[in-house]
Amino acid sequence: MRESTHVIFGLGVGAIVAKMLKMNTLDMGLSLVGSIIIHEIIDYFGHEYHFWQSHPRRLQFTHSIFGVFLIATFLTIIIGLPAFYVNGVGHYLIFWPLLASGLSHLVLDALTPNGVFICGKRVSLRVCRSNNPIANIALQFVGVALLCFAFCRS
Ligand SMILES: [Zn+2]
Repeated sequence: MRESTHVIFGLGVGAIVAKMLKMNTLDMGLSLVGSIIIHEIIDYFGHEYHFWQSHPRRLQFTHSIFGVFLIATFLTIIIGLPAFYVNGVGHYLIFWPLLASGLSHLVLDALTPNGVFICGKRVSLRVCRSNNPIANIALQFVGVALLCFAFCRS
């Protein structure tokens, strides 16, 4: 899917998980920032470009459950540690919204012909291409709806 679709959908998923964990405002904010960054990392390090191919090849390193787990752990440390030194409170809970947001990336990419990697095997549901405008708009709409649901529910 498009980068913007991953970010908006992932923000919605991350916000729902953060709300379920009854996070305070700071942790919620850190989770949302991390929910944006995780998709940039997954896709930046997750493709191989060759001049003879029209589309970049998706790599197993970041487009797998283990890869997302590692990136979420890394981001929790990178984002949580500075916040810990500012207010002396551990922010390890942000791992869960980051993991959920990262896993949503895999779910959306699994809909495309390129697929993702589960236990080393490429899994693709072949529902639509990653640049399909209708699918991207629909999934962005779902992401915004999830965000509204997370923030509007008391
Ligand atoms: Zn991707």
